[in-house]
Amino acid sequence: MTGSVKYKSISRIPVKVVLKAAGKPVYSEFRWKRRLLQLLVLFLAVLIPASGLFRIDPSAAAFVVLDRQIWLSDFSLVTGAWLFLASSLILMYSTAGMVFCGWACPQNTMSEWANNLTHKLLGKHAEVSLTGEAIRVAGAKNKALNWFLLGISFLGAAMFFALIPLFYFYQPSVVWSFITFQEDARLASSLHWIYAVCVVIIFIDIAMIRHFWCRYACIYRVWMHSFKTRQTLRVAYDASRSKECDKCSYCVNSCFIDLDPRKTDVYDSCINCGDCIDACNRMHQKQGVPGLLRFEMLERKNQSVSKLHNVAISLFTRMGWTAPFVVLGASMFIWGLWSYQPYHVVVGHADVQQGRSVQGYRIALTNKLYHATELHVKVLGLPQGTYQLSAENVKLSAVGRESLMLSIVKDLPRGIYSFVVEVSAGDAWKGRFPVQHFSE
Ligand code: SF4
Ligand code: SF4
Repeated sequence: MTGSVKYKSISRIPVKVVLKAAGKPVYSEFRWKRRLLQLLVLFLAVLIPASGLFRIDPSAAAFVVLDRQIWLSDFSLVTGAWLFLASSLILMYSTAGMVFCGWACPQNTMSEWANNLTHKLLGKHAEVSLTGEAIRVAGAKNKALNWFLLGISFLGAAMFFALIPLFYFYQPSVVWSFITFQEDARLASSLHWIYAVCVVIIFIDIAMIRHFWCRYACIYRVWMHSFKTRQTLRVAYDASRSKECDKCSYCVNSCFIDLDPRKTDVYDSCINCGDCIDACNRMHQKQGVPGLLRFEMLERKNQSVSKLHNVAISLFTRMGWTAPFVVLGASMFIWGLWSYQPYHVVVGHADVQQGRSVQGYRIALTNKLYHATELHVKVLGLPQGTYQLSAENVKLSAVGRESLMLSIVKDLPRGIYSFVVEVSAGDAWKGRFPVQHFSE
């Protein structure tokens, strides 16, 4: 629908648009829930990395889960997390469609916020149009102060949103050093430039791109589309009451994606935000009847079967193949956390050789946790006095590495000696590395 048609439609909306009917509050069932969830998602987007639940350690090129460095050898944790995430998302796409876009996606949250602020400062027809039309500023609001307030608000939002990715690469204390311009060796020297580029990109996105991104550039949206079916959550229209739509297009005007909610299709751009349903319900609030639009998960052909029963069967059918993968992924992840090894021990040959036999071993110790620790090293299986350790207690910094030397005397009788290097930590962890030593 073109913008001009849309504005004509707005003017045709009769006075019966009820915002406060008989002192009752405005009927917006979905709007406030959606706003709450959008805020919660933004809060979680910061809380998840800041709490150490998940982030990336750029210096080690590793993922961090619950302040533990994850290596490829932590197979169940890595595979379980990806399997759980991928299958949960597929489950969500096939049942709830593009609900992520309308209720959780930060890009859409920013765009909606920018739309609302633009309407407030420049007038209700001032829209960044998806059809490329110039913005229509209300004459009374076309003031330098309004443009300035809009620009400064967009800049502040861009600076705020550009900070969120930093939490995924740095601990909160480092981000705080960055925000307060403190010297911190842990900060990359080019970070201020990277941040400035991010601010510019987000500013352009908020000021000029907004829903263009959702409609024409979002690859994630294409991916979500691939899992939609005819039973996926959609807006359904009660065509038997279509007479009530005469001279009304309130739902069409409330849709910021520029769709006609009465004619939604499986593969359209509807993001299940529910604004049109709220709008139609408001239209009918005064008459005390529900609107003509509702969320629907299936086409109800068999009216003799209850709606709840149909939805349950439909959900069960779609969950049939994804749910086992969700459970498998979650189980592997929990098992991975439970069996996680926080320290790593490797014993290798040092360059100390006597003829063909090795006389020295290097014991490499790694701390995979993001706090300092102390490890105790013992050698089991070699007679006392036949070996020497360079240290028995080793202090390791957060995700630090240390190595120590094990020297074995030359005059051991000829033969093969099996021994074990045992490493223990104060948290009751014990690691063992078996070694076969040959003495000539
Ligand atoms: S569906 Fe509701 S809001 Fe939309 S045109 Fe019909 S009566 Fe108006
Ligand atoms: S059709 Fe309704 S639910 Fe879909 S995007 Fe538009 S307003 Fe939101």
